[in-house]
Amino acid sequence: MAPTFWCEELETMTAGELRRYEAPILAAQVEYLYAYSNYYRCVLDNAGIRPHEITCHEALEMVPFTEKKDLAQAQREGLLIGPHQCAPMDKIVRLVGTGGTSGKPMRIAWTREDVHAYSEMGARALWILGCRPGDLVVNCFNYSIYAGGVMDHMAFEHLGAAVLAYGVGNSRALLDLLADLPGDKCLYSTPSYAVRLAGIASEAGMEPRTLNVRKGVFSGEAGLQVPGYRQKIEKTWGMAAGDLYGVAELGCQSAECEHRNGMHFCGQGYVIAELIDPDSGAVKKMKDGETGELVFTSIRRQASPLLRLRSHDFVAVETSRCACGRTGFRFHTRGRSDDMFVVKGVNIFPTSIQEVLHELHPRLTGEFQVALDTPPPFDYAPRLLVEVSPGVPSSQHAALIRETEAVIRTKAAFAALVELVPQGTIASEHKTRRVLRNYKL
Ligand SMILES: [Zn+2]
Repeated sequence: MAPTFWCEELETMTAGELRRYEAPILAAQVEYLYAYSNYYRCVLDNAGIRPHEITCHEALEMVPFTEKKDLAQAQREGLLIGPHQCAPMDKIVRLVGTGGTSGKPMRIAWTREDVHAYSEMGARALWILGCRPGDLVVNCFNYSIYAGGVMDHMAFEHLGAAVLAYGVGNSRALLDLLADLPGDKCLYSTPSYAVRLAGIASEAGMEPRTLNVRKGVFSGEAGLQVPGYRQKIEKTWGMAAGDLYGVAELGCQSAECEHRNGMHFCGQGYVIAELIDPDSGAVKKMKDGETGELVFTSIRRQASPLLRLRSHDFVAVETSRCACGRTGFRFHTRGRSDDMFVVKGVNIFPTSIQEVLHELHPRLTGEFQVALDTPPPFDYAPRLLVEVSPGVPSSQHAALIRETEAVIRTKAAFAALVELVPQGTIASEHKTRRVLRNYKL
């Protein structure tokens, strides 16, 4: 029988059943960490916590958060992985780096069992998205160091899809390849790369819809859930575009089902997710409409398990049962909490700018960057670089700038100094940075 990654038993559990199922796995992970990780032994000792006390999700709330920068510091001091390494080197079979949107890449280690768990969770998420054995996937994430390349490639393979390892760069040749490959294809990339690739296709006189890329699996950036952005990509390519979410340290563990009502968390049995207030760190109850930052704990990891890793991803959650039958929480990403900035007391997320700029499509491509040129407080109007479509004559640019500034002021609630830049100058092949902090603190 063909494998299925619809894990009905786990994905339809109630929250209480899931907690009871995961509690002993969590307890074993904490005992393992205390025995083998110098880092977490110190963290727990310093917090006055005995490992045998962490026997349930509620007890986990006592444990201090892990910040990526704390782990990265040990690597800067010369350690290959860091003091949170638990498995010996002869059990470690893969290293990847995290990063892309901020900071220096941090090395993450994986044993054979860890790699299998990553693939298993990833395949579950891809199954939710409608990927199936028989799909032909072109992976346009960076294979150099990052998890989106080789790790996600393996998750697609684990599912049973055929994956073409394209990587980044040479977009023109990619278009020729897509034209050459017979049958329907699935594109795996950031959403902004799909926009950029469509622009390159149009410049080359190619119609993206004719390339038969009928599925898009998008990851690495918030934005696909912004109304209008997904529809634009779907219309341009003639594809169904779905959102996949993960953090490189723990794997891809969330994805949208066909009902497109948020991403289902599907890391049951491997990863525990919590919702916290990003300022106070207090745990929030998962209930419809609640917002906060996601925090993740690995519970079945060997090489370098992580307790309460702050994702800095800010989300809104839903807990009602989905028509697909899944009962776990779903969420909509609002952006990275470290991408949020405050202008004259108003919290601004890049996704809210994206939503507003969409109104000026097709004159604007929708790609943008905010430039914060001096340190906070931001009591000035930041520069907002927006891509203008090539068809707009320069005689109309001044009026378009005024119009964009007015829309940002009324709908995104802050004043910006808009600058127009040519199409193709902002969206990158990797993750597109939406907020440029051009200052040193
Ligand atoms: Zn669903």
